[in-house]
Amino acid sequence: MVEKVHCLIIGSGPAGYTAAIYAARANLKPVLYHGLQPGGQLTTTTDVENYPGYPEGVKGPDMMADFHKQALRFGTDIRNGLVTAVDFSKRPFEITIDEGKHKVIADAVIIATGASAKWLDIPSEQKFRLNGGGVSACATCDGFFYRGKEVAVVGGGDTAAEEATYLARICKKVYMIHRRDTLRASKVMQQRVFNTNNIEMLWDSEVDEILGEEFVTGVRIKNVKTNEKKEISLSGVFIAIGHQPNTKIFKDWLDLDEQGYIKTLPGTTITNIPGVFACGDVQDKIYRQAVTAAGTGCMAALDAERFLAEHA
Ligand code: NDP
Repeated sequence: MVEKVHCLIIGSGPAGYTAAIYAARANLKPVLYHGLQPGGQLTTTTDVENYPGYPEGVKGPDMMADFHKQALRFGTDIRNGLVTAVDFSKRPFEITIDEGKHKVIADAVIIATGASAKWLDIPSEQKFRLNGGGVSACATCDGFFYRGKEVAVVGGGDTAAEEATYLARICKKVYMIHRRDTLRASKVMQQRVFNTNNIEMLWDSEVDEILGEEFVTGVRIKNVKTNEKKEISLSGVFIAIGHQPNTKIFKDWLDLDEQGYIKTLPGTTITNIPGVFACGDVQDKIYRQAVTAAGTGCMAALDAERFLAEHA
């Protein structure tokens, strides 16, 4: 027998849990599936100091444990399991969990599957990322820890340009390492980078290795035109080579933008399919903050509540 769910939430970052808290308190009896990374991107960060309500800061995993507890407290049914397929052709929607081990049908679906930062995929990068040793994909989250220090940003798009100019206000010096000799970033962002005195461009360069024992002490870069290698001393490396929204299973049903983010009606979480809502980083390539994700999670629950009241 296929299980019937009133409100299904897919994803367990700040957006998914906030949607769950609001949906549970509105008596929508939400069922939330965790996905592969319970707690989402914040479980891979160390200190979070910019989430309001934590004046002393909080560890990312601890904050997500709090979100989890709060969602449970109001009766969210939180489950392990990965949504592997959806059928949004008719309501109630059909959702396949763990390649068909389980199926549910849902009156409303809130998608909060997030986005994943792209990484260079060199071993030293993953080591320092996972131990909080000096590799990050979020300057707004972690830049503060490098106050007065020298850091590098890898990438040449708008994110990299934005991260570099942000870090330049906090750090002594920012190296921007880009694999080509022109930036992909918009002209206005490029100008901002070029007009910032403490950003040094390292053109035609790839990161060969991130150096250090427990903490980052430098990078070795390779010039892709000359193959010449050189080492630079610094304390942190910010990887800004793009994000990948986790939308693969939705692409046959939902309108996505050219980078794969779910399109929502401006100012709402409404997608092109009535009854399917999207919140958090899966529909936001600009802000990507825990607090903005939580905000849109709240919106998704309110949008779902209104929809379910009208289509009961
Ligand atoms: P982009 O895909 O635009 O840029 C990624 C950058 O990383 C490119 O310069 C690319 O190099 C480089 N890169 C990719 N893979 C590698 C790799 N393996 N090694 C080294 N370098 C690599 O991603 P963004 O996150 O910058 O932007 C995504 C979208 O979001 C864009 O549309 C952007 O305009 C938008 N955005 C808008 C903002 C705003 O309006 N405030 C802020 C941030 C993003 P190459 O150029 O050689 O391909």
